[in-house]
Amino acid sequence: MAGRFYGIVLCGGSGSRMGLQTNKVLLELHGKSVLLRSLEALSPFVDGLILVIRKEDETAVRESLSGTPFSGIQTVCGGNTRQASVAAGLAALPENAAYVLIHDGARCLVDSLTIQHVKDAVTETGSGIASVPVKDTIKRTEKDGQILETLDRTSLRAMQTPQGFRRELIVKAHEYAREHQIDGTDDASLLEAMGLPVTWTEGSYRNIKITTPEDLLMAEMILHERPERLRVGTGYDVHRLVEGRRLVLCGVEVPHTVGLLGHSDADVAAHALIDAMLGAVALGDIGQLFPDTDEAYRDIDSMILLKRANEVLREHGAHVQNLDLTICALKPKLAPFIQKMRERLSEVLSLPLQDVSVKATTTEHLGFEGRMEGISANCVVMVSQKG
Ligand code: MG
Repeated sequence: MAGRFYGIVLCGGSGSRMGLQTNKVLLELHGKSVLLRSLEALSPFVDGLILVIRKEDETAVRESLSGTPFSGIQTVCGGNTRQASVAAGLAALPENAAYVLIHDGARCLVDSLTIQHVKDAVTETGSGIASVPVKDTIKRTEKDGQILETLDRTSLRAMQTPQGFRRELIVKAHEYAREHQIDGTDDASLLEAMGLPVTWTEGSYRNIKITTPEDLLMAEMILHERPERLRVGTGYDVHRLVEGRRLVLCGVEVPHTVGLLGHSDADVAAHALIDAMLGAVALGDIGQLFPDTDEAYRDIDSMILLKRANEVLREHGAHVQNLDLTICALKPKLAPFIQKMRERLSEVLSLPLQDVSVKATTTEHLGFEGRMEGISANCVVMVSQKG
């Protein structure tokens, strides 16, 4: 069996250069923390993850990861330096870890190709360090403002993370550094200090470390340019027809002898639409978002719920592209109201009318719709999501 890869994610940095009280990995980028983005990027490439954190961040980190696939992640407390923190992570590796990828928690934009290059080099040569060619001219200087020399740019590369190693190599290098009191700014330098060969791999200029407020701005721009994913969702709802209630469909009141029963205004069409929207981004369903045990939602206009669901989608970088809704009712005849329903949905969702389709059908007297015991609605929604 191939050797197991473990990831060590470093979250020791304070937010001081960001002018923050909190750890910068807990900052939110498009509705997700920097840390969660880093873990999501790395996790498909490793068999396990160890998070190295500062003791004082433990509660905040746990809280930020609750409800994510990383809520049970193993954490260890780091030391005063990056090197000491990595050493703490290495000490926590399980027996079966053959390779380790050390990654800065603040490099949350790392892409799959960068990680794969590192992994390939590690299995082939024992080490792999993500890096990019230096674009600026680099000079060696004196503190007094004097320039000493210009370095040959063609041989210079800027090191990033992940930095990957065969486990025994990096463990040995850390022991050596401890014995010889070597303080490296990255892990590769500890192998270099031992005279061991280290392999660089192709990283990405987008794999920035979020350290300053400018970096955060840059990260937002990079996320913004990421291609949108198209996601589809379906929704289905039924409400019972009873006397003494209004019949409201897609926010439009339809005159009828009976109306729909429910905790809210029982707009069955709007509910199917909301479920489809939430389904497209896997955010649960309408009952979770607006519990029918909550008095705040009694007899509420479902257009208010629809507007709120749309905001929730936007908070997740998602936008409705188009929707197709079918209402199934034997009576009343809905054709005269269809245009008004489309206009109402288009207005509430801020969507062009051409992207809002509402249709009505019957079941030829079959089933509960045919017996006029209730009305059902089906909806399909296409959503685009960024990042
Ligand atoms: Mg409902």
